[in-house]
Amino acid sequence: MNSLSNSLNATQTVISSSSSSLPSTVSASDTPITQFTPSTTDINQEMLSKIWVPDINYNFPIKISVVGKQQKVLKLKFQYKWLISFPWLAYSEVNSSVFCKYCVAFTKTEAGVNNQKLGAFVLIKYDDWKHALENFKNHSNLEYHKKSLLDADNFLNMLKNPTRAVILCSRQNLALRGHRGSGKIESNESKVMNEGNFREILRYRAQGDIEMKTYLESLGKMKYTSHRSQNNMIDACNKILLDKVVSRVNTAKCFSILADETVDISGVEQVSLCVRYFNSNTLKLTEEFLQFVPTNNMTGKGIANLILENLEQFGINTQYLHGQGYDGAAAMAGKFNGVQAHIKEIHPNALYVHCSAHSLNLAVSKSCSVPAIRDCLGTISQIRDFFIYPKRKSVLIHKIEKSSETPSKKTLKRSCETRWIERYHAVHDFFELFEYVEEALEDISEWNDNDTSEKSYQKFSSKQA
Ligand SMILES: [Zn+2]
Repeated sequence: MNSLSNSLNATQTVISSSSSSLPSTVSASDTPITQFTPSTTDINQEMLSKIWVPDINYNFPIKISVVGKQQKVLKLKFQYKWLISFPWLAYSEVNSSVFCKYCVAFTKTEAGVNNQKLGAFVLIKYDDWKHALENFKNHSNLEYHKKSLLDADNFLNMLKNPTRAVILCSRQNLALRGHRGSGKIESNESKVMNEGNFREILRYRAQGDIEMKTYLESLGKMKYTSHRSQNNMIDACNKILLDKVVSRVNTAKCFSILADETVDISGVEQVSLCVRYFNSNTLKLTEEFLQFVPTNNMTGKGIANLILENLEQFGINTQYLHGQGYDGAAAMAGKFNGVQAHIKEIHPNALYVHCSAHSLNLAVSKSCSVPAIRDCLGTISQIRDFFIYPKRKSVLIHKIEKSSETPSKKTLKRSCETRWIERYHAVHDFFELFEYVEEALEDISEWNDNDTSEKSYQKFSSKQA
């Protein structure tokens, strides 16, 4: 197995029982690969060990086979102790048979002497319980099986460091890649230019970690640091987080969908999907982001279908959908042809509520056109712009610092046209700093620089007004 993508796919095939050229080895009730938590526990032990294992009291089905010339009937079943004696075994509830989890995940279609076709335990299910012990031992001694064990160990070890770098960047909201981000990572810092956060984190770790340094400098090509590997890890993290949210929503058995559409920086129309539900672990109402979903169809019907299809694809049971929250746009809120109407046709309990944040935003926007409020906001905005220049700003900061009181704010905020919450902060901070602004303007109005002092005097006067 030569790439992270293939390894992950193969491992996921084992674990998720999906149909593919590789056999399924597990039941529908298995813990999927997405449940392991690389950030908190040792990924090396987590990943492959999370494949479903039958309980010690599991009732293995009896297999009836007729053997020999005398047509003897044998009733045999799989023995639980074999899972302990041969830890590479993975029992499949679906097929009532076993496979080798390492060979399934880490061998190609051919292996061994003269590139033989792979058979039992890998591509074909094994359920000959009469000769089980003998064949288990034989498989344990196969060269390609031993190589699979090594590959699995190397794979998990190699994956550990790049995965941690991806998670660190995600947590700190750092972009992973810069302009230069391909090829071997040189562990000698002075040799290269900035190659982006992901590669720089690995290089930084190599400075104090001999194992990491050896890993980066080793001759092997597979380092799992390419942009494809990074994307695979991001996708895996996304799947882990999404599955956790989905599981909590399904446990709550009641949720609302919150959606809005917007255009991203590349011009792609996207719908953001969030859910609101009662979290039984924290005993709190919780709102969580699910996913951005690109779309071309911005009609009410189109977005309604997109929401329902994606919820189902994530694994959320849409029978639990009891609420919808959108903005008041016709495509979303329309009584006959809006998203809410189309969803209500299928889920009559999904009550539509005009999103409170959008409603408040509309109310604030509307009130901003009242002349007195409009003028006041205009003055606040102009004064904030006036203090943008370092020389003037330093006067304001000096006034704040020498004050006996200790205001929590040190600067004035910009008032954004479209985000009401930023307007609120701008006004709130302005009033907290009002007396210092006044003093600073008074001082500046006496400067020799006519332009500045005149503007300052005007603002000082307008504030007094
Ligand atoms: Zn094997």
